[in-house]
Amino acid sequence: CRVLVTGGNGFIAQHTIAVLLGEGYSVVTTVRSEEKVDAVRETHNGHGDLTIVVVGDITSTDAYLAGLENEAIDAILHLAAPFTYATQSFETDLMIPSVQGAEAALHLAEQLGVKRVVQTNSFACIYDASLGPRPDKIYSAKDWAPLTYDDGVRAKDAPTAYRASKVAAERAAWDFMKQSRCFDLVSLCPGMVFGPWLDAPTSVKSINTSNMLVYNVVSLPEQESVPPTKAPVWVHVRDVAKAHVQALRVPEAGGKRFLLAANVYCNQEIADVTREVIPPAVRKGRVPIGQVGKREHKTHFGIDVQETEDILGLQWTDLGTCLGELVPQLYAIQDED
Ligand code: NDP
Repeated sequence: CRVLVTGGNGFIAQHTIAVLLGEGYSVVTTVRSEEKVDAVRETHNGHGDLTIVVVGDITSTDAYLAGLENEAIDAILHLAAPFTYATQSFETDLMIPSVQGAEAALHLAEQLGVKRVVQTNSFACIYDASLGPRPDKIYSAKDWAPLTYDDGVRAKDAPTAYRASKVAAERAAWDFMKQSRCFDLVSLCPGMVFGPWLDAPTSVKSINTSNMLVYNVVSLPEQESVPPTKAPVWVHVRDVAKAHVQALRVPEAGGKRFLLAANVYCNQEIADVTREVIPPAVRKGRVPIGQVGKREHKTHFGIDVQETEDILGLQWTDLGTCLGELVPQLYAIQDED
């Protein structure tokens, strides 16, 4: 089975490609510039089953077709989309690449005659941020965030625009699927994805948006206060990668959306667990002490991932394992920067 992964240099895509290659899939991946080709090849040690092509414009099906030449593709994992809050124009930088990028990947699927498309969406497509913490609410993949394309264009801040870009892209995809197609669609909706890189960035400003939430806690000195928690649902990057591969091969996954989440969390928990798993000699006076043991879990919504576990057969890596792998990489970046 030959799989196309869009945005192969991305944080989640790196791991997804590694799982695919490890399981014997043949992978074609796209990056948007020549210099990223070598980097991705190195990440996977020049693996013979990995082909890397440049597609400069992810909103153009023709650009994909030109880049792919005559590659035969059986399935598409569409991960390429902006996850950044550093933007000048919400429409140009977030809404258009996200929504038109999703549509281009689906048109491509039709033209290539693939059997399945897996779209990387988000918990942002599920929860309603405007209703606040909602301690009595349990979110599942049955819930839909109410944000629209226009909400993204006119958003008051970049996180809201980003969330709207994910909702609009997922809605566009399901709308596309209302016509009879040669393939089916699986939507994956991860919470904040934390975990180590296969190819770690070399500067703090290059840390991807979700791991930055961890960096913003564990890089602070012990005597600082713990910053407020911004997005209280998380999942390990390797579990997200495995979910993508399961979404490819489990027949019953077709036509469904899945919430990917290990648990809810708060920043005090990140601080406490980091102190448990990272020795003082590595922390070097970092990680705010705050109010040890205090948890915010009952002050906001919960999550239900039973269907994900049942259908995709996933189990979730715990926070200690995740931070034990990620935090030393974050400190290496901080110490070098
Ligand atoms: P990264 O920022 O690490 O990777 C994003 C990928 O998309 C990169 O390959 C990037 O290319 C590409 N990309 C971004 N903007 C554009 C654009 N305008 N045109 C072409 N390519 C673009 O992000 P993640 O790996 O974290 O995210 C991957 C997917 O998962 C995204 O769809 C994201 O929304 C989704 N997601 C991520 C979560 C997380 O916590 N990380 C949570 C939920 C969903 P380049 O490097 O050239 O910019």
